[in-house]
Amino acid sequence: MSSKGLLLFVSALLLASGCKKQHHQLSIALISLGPVPTRDMTEARQAIEDQFDAHVYVVSKPVTLPDSAYYAPRKRYKAEKLISFLDDGLSIHSDRIIGITTSDISTAYRGRSDWGVIGSSEGRAAVVSTYRLGGKDVPQNLKDSRLRKNVLHELGHTFGLDHCPNTKCLMQDGQGGILTTDRADEAFCVECAKKLGHVLKVAHG
Ligand SMILES: [Zn+2]
Ligand SMILES: [Zn+2]
Repeated sequence: MSSKGLLLFVSALLLASGCKKQHHQLSIALISLGPVPTRDMTEARQAIEDQFDAHVYVVSKPVTLPDSAYYAPRKRYKAEKLISFLDDGLSIHSDRIIGITTSDISTAYRGRSDWGVIGSSEGRAAVVSTYRLGGKDVPQNLKDSRLRKNVLHELGHTFGLDHCPNTKCLMQDGQGGILTTDRADEAFCVECAKKLGHVLKVAHG
């Protein structure tokens, strides 16, 4: 840790000790929205645990996707409705909630009311779909990496991060495609990591 980093760390400690609310470990719930392969849930959990100083709870029993989120004309689910379902439909008290689903999800994007996406987030909740991570011709380890990056990306948004201009950063704008994700490292750039601060395992300063 640099001296500046140490100073920040000490002042953060002083702030924390002067604060009535006790510092608690960050809790993140991972929910299967509909049946999701165990492998995918494990990849998502490990991606988060590798980077975030958090306890990740995996809810092993799949939660049924709410009918109210289903968009029949495109046979897929509205991401924002899934997110509000995760946020207040399940009475989960963790700091962050990430839903994983194999179903296709969509949101309003680029002037279109229904655009298929991999992930979306709002407030403390996010949803990530494996539907667009690649077909049978895509190697499993590449699909795993895409899932891990997308989970971390959406989680980054729930901590207030915007898209990042650094093409190696996993917070760069996906631009509606998967190739930008493939070019990024499975890491937040220094700038994004600074903004995330203490929620990350590795201190940047
Ligand atoms: Zn994003
Ligand atoms: Zn960044």
